[in-house]
Amino acid sequence: MGYTVGMMTKQTAAKAETKLNFFCAGSVRGNCGHKHATAEAAARCQRRDSKGCKSQGGYSDRKIRDSQGGEYFAHWASATDLEVTKVQ
Ligand SMILES: [Zn+2]
Repeated sequence: MGYTVGMMTKQTAAKAETKLNFFCAGSVRGNCGHKHATAEAAARCQRRDSKGCKSQGGYSDRKIRDSQGGEYFAHWASATDLEVTKVQ
């Protein structure tokens, strides 16, 4: 038997995907300034902003977006149950 060659396969396939990041932005409230790793994290950020606005009698117009122009809709079934769907 010959020897086996190890350490030949380093996966780099997920590179492009990790570049995608998420943030919240609205024309009134502006950009949240974060780079969220997931749409869910951005949804939590959006909800936090929305609650802050409500406590001052307003509302947040921020939407969840990604760095490639995607837009997402967050549906909160309960305070902890989150479902994020891509709008476009
Ligand atoms: Zn944020």
